[in-house]
Amino acid sequence: MSVTVRAAAKINLHLGVGAPREDGFHPLDTVYQAIDLYDDLTLSVAGEDSLTVAGPPYVDVDGIPTDASNIAMRALAEVACGDAHAVRISKRVPVAGGMAGGSADGAAALLAHDRLHVLDQSDEVLLAQAARLGSDVPFSLVGGTARGRGRGEVVERIEDLGTWWWVVVPASVGLSTPEVYRHFDRLHPDAPAQPAEPTGLLAALATGEPVRLARTLHNDLEEPAIDLRPELGTLIERGEAEGALRGMVSGSGPTCVFLCAGRDEAMAVAAGLSATYDVVLPAVGPVAGAHVVHPG
Ligand code: ATP
Repeated sequence: MSVTVRAAAKINLHLGVGAPREDGFHPLDTVYQAIDLYDDLTLSVAGEDSLTVAGPPYVDVDGIPTDASNIAMRALAEVACGDAHAVRISKRVPVAGGMAGGSADGAAALLAHDRLHVLDQSDEVLLAQAARLGSDVPFSLVGGTARGRGRGEVVERIEDLGTWWWVVVPASVGLSTPEVYRHFDRLHPDAPAQPAEPTGLLAALATGEPVRLARTLHNDLEEPAIDLRPELGTLIERGEAEGALRGMVSGSGPTCVFLCAGRDEAMAVAAGLSATYDVVLPAVGPVAGAHVVHPG
């Protein structure tokens, strides 16, 4: 008996970052969107804990721990009552790409464990477990388009009338999220305590119009990410020259995402970027949060 749960990558349409709090965390005001780039996690009861990961060549499988430090194993350690588990992850979300692939696997492990053992816990209980695991994990459960505040763990669904077409360009070498935050602090020693709010973006989402959304996309971590990796600036200019409405760094990077006017435009931008970049992935959002795809 096994259960397979599918969990999506996220992009940040808005990422407002405030000055670090006393506990060291940066207060965030962010708008997440789940896009159709997925990890599938398969869980079964086993004699001892094990974890295997497979994925296409652009996924840095070697960069993923297979011991107890893997976020999926950490999730199981939180909730399992004595049982050992075998975990298989089929990974398509870039590793250390700012797309919360690890968080997706954590959310998938929590949901798979609940379903495998027929626990039928409430959404509130699962969301509380997710928040303990990491700030992006609750959104991986919720999916769709949602606003995150605090460290990102207080998630509230928001109205989104669009079908948004993106082109995703991962980088072959990841960027450490803490390093990007440290660089943000160096560049902005006087950052306001309150992060920027996504007021214009929320209005644009409710219209479903890509040109309006393009004008309101915002990421406070884009500047430090490009400062650390200047080639990301070149990539963004190139994608916009190929016809994207707007390119931006996704979350803490180094993955970049390009908003396009529709499906045909996304395919054209992807074809143009493919001449130079090895991995170029058209994607659509919003899509559902973690869900069972194969109840074993
Ligand atoms: P975020 O956007 O939430 O900051 P990210 O997309 O930049 O995250 P992840 O791919 O989630 O980064 O992983 C960051 C690091 O976490 C990896 O470099 C890896 O060492 C570790 N890790 C632990 N578990 C996993 C997992 N299941 N999948 C990927 N990375 C994992």
